Amino acid sequence: MQVLLAEEYGFCFGVERAVELVEDALSQGARVRTLGPLIHNTQEIQRLEAHGVATIDAPADVEGEVTAVIRAHGVTPQVQRELEARASHVVDATCPFVTKVQKLAERAAAEGRDVVIVGNPDHPEMIGVVGYAPNNSYVVRDAGEVANLPALRAPLVVSQTTIKLSAFLEAAEAVRAKADSEPQIVNTICSATRDRQDAARALAGQVEAFYVIGGKHSSNSLKLLSVCKESCERSFLIETPQEIDAEDLRGVERVGVTAGASTPNWLIEQVVARLREIGEARKETADALAV
Ligand code: SF4
Repeated sequence: MQVLLAEEYGFCFGVERAVELVEDALSQGARVRTLGPLIHNTQEIQRLEAHGVATIDAPADVEGEVTAVIRAHGVTPQVQRELEARASHVVDATCPFVTKVQKLAERAAAEGRDVVIVGNPDHPEMIGVVGYAPNNSYVVRDAGEVANLPALRAPLVVSQTTIKLSAFLEAAEAVRAKADSEPQIVNTICSATRDRQDAARALAGQVEAFYVIGGKHSSNSLKLLSVCKESCERSFLIETPQEIDAEDLRGVERVGVTAGASTPNWLIEQVVARLREIGEARKETADALAV
């Protein structure tokens, strides 16, 4: 049985960088606290916890000598200041793609312009970005919500890094009707999610079974699963190799593997090893029967 990995899978650049920064701090003997869970993966969080990393909910939870880590989603400047005032050291693991959105919003606000951000207003990334333009920013989920906005002054339109391009373009177009001048439209969508989906779609047509490794409640993993199911009915979402049922692989010659942007490599390697083990066991049984 051949085990084939999608061309793009697993940790995105921002998540990989955040985990590396935490590991650097640990290697220097720091007591590490992350503001909110570092990534959306239970197994990786447990691994980090075993190394002494704990999660805090707010800067007020910092106690004693602590290296506080800002995760890839970023935070508002105010939260960053509070953290800097309380922690002995702050590691800023904000993804550079998110920092770009924050800086664009900050600059436009400083110029007295309005900022329209297309995304989910409750998402931590959006809460952080709004903090850079607190008095003149509006978060809209789609073009329909733009209709409720007041007249906009020389607006900047940016996006949450993980939204769909069509939602962004439609909302940006709707902003034109509300703006007093041509809006500055900057597509700040990161390609990591789309790249993983495109790679999974390309592989799903070539295999008879597909394993997506990721959190059962992670929207990005669920989306990967539905992409795989479009051309490979026998697609499964698993969090660990223990969830693989060899029976599901009966008659399968080629099995595909992909993983969400928060799934660590060590977990992917364990899944691949388990699939190879199943393939080997099947081959040995077939050889024995042939003798
Ligand atoms: S999905 Fe994109 S923006 Fe978000 S952390 Fe990963 S690389 Fe950064």
